[in-house]
Amino acid sequence: MSLSALQRICAASVQEHGAEGVAEMTQVLAQLGNGGRCKNNILRDLQVALERDNALYVTPTYLTIPIAHGRTMQWPVVPPHELFGKLLQHNVGSRILRGTLDLSGFWNSMATEPGFARHPVVNDHSKRAQTFPIRIHGDDGRWSGKERPILVLQWGGMHHTPHPYDCRLLCCVIPGILYRKSRKINHTLRAIWTFLTWSFNLMLEGRWPAEPFPGTVLSALGASQAGNCFPGGMRAAVIGSKGDWKFEKETFEQTRSWQHNDVCCLCNASKATGTQLPFYDFSSGAGWRATVLSDEEACPLMSSPLLGLDGWARAMIWDDLLHAIFIGPAKSFAGSAITLLARQHHWNDGTVDDNLAMACLAFRSWCFRPKNDSVRLQ
Ligand SMILES: [Zn+2]
Repeated sequence: MSLSALQRICAASVQEHGAEGVAEMTQVLAQLGNGGRCKNNILRDLQVALERDNALYVTPTYLTIPIAHGRTMQWPVVPPHELFGKLLQHNVGSRILRGTLDLSGFWNSMATEPGFARHPVVNDHSKRAQTFPIRIHGDDGRWSGKERPILVLQWGGMHHTPHPYDCRLLCCVIPGILYRKSRKINHTLRAIWTFLTWSFNLMLEGRWPAEPFPGTVLSALGASQAGNCFPGGMRAAVIGSKGDWKFEKETFEQTRSWQHNDVCCLCNASKATGTQLPFYDFSSGAGWRATVLSDEEACPLMSSPLLGLDGWARAMIWDDLLHAIFIGPAKSFAGSAITLLARQHHWNDGTVDDNLAMACLAFRSWCFRPKNDSVRLQ
């Protein structure tokens, strides 16, 4: 919904119920942009109203990023450490980032996870009870089917909440049309990730930055807190990244993907005709098994700024199971399995078509149900 539509709805509510009959915020929203007469001022008025309220308004940092056609642009990014500090100041950090998760218990269990043995929090018992595990998330969105994609970058806690509104905190929105790419590197995203990595590392260090990120200025809040610890001595550590394959490839600057004959970022499996290492060979003697890279071997292939996260491990790139089934190597397997089940009358006693129709209905109803953490987050 646009802000202008939101203003009209609030204005209609005030008209219907009277100023006394609506919440104070509804009155404020109804007044935005001189009561809707100056649409261009609606966003500015909202920012002013939120700042005046001392609400959870976070000043964006304007980064100079390279964009297409050799140009640069000032682009707003909401620094995760600023929002983190604000959430803690307002005493909602724990509710939004921790939920009912037992922090010490969580980090104790991470000690045996592959790649986490050297993680700064796992290695320092004193930090475990005061560090929120967080994840980053990226996905393309569109206003409508005809629009070009817009990348939305978010971060959030690890606990389950039914509302994405609560668990996904925005850090950047950028249209793909702006990207500057050369030699397979997305320089626009690299500039944004360099800044975000700096911000996430501050959250793990537990301090507001003493100096601004190069080329930017500290916000008023950042300047007043420069070098201070976050409230309650709290920290946050990125433990995983979730996104579809396109996101993973661009973010982690991988050189192999489903678009290439070399389909896998971890081994030499191939989809080239006549290859000796076909990706669809899942037998115990499959040739690609001898070419699987260890975490250490796989990392030097990538140059993403996120490799600069303190405690980085290859295991932090989470596989996206649903995308693998939907568009990746498991697509043919999923199709074969469903056809086989339909022939065995798995869903009903009718024909194969009846069974496939029922499978489709079952899948659609599954899509609308709230998912548990194992599917949603990993
Ligand atoms: Zn592989």
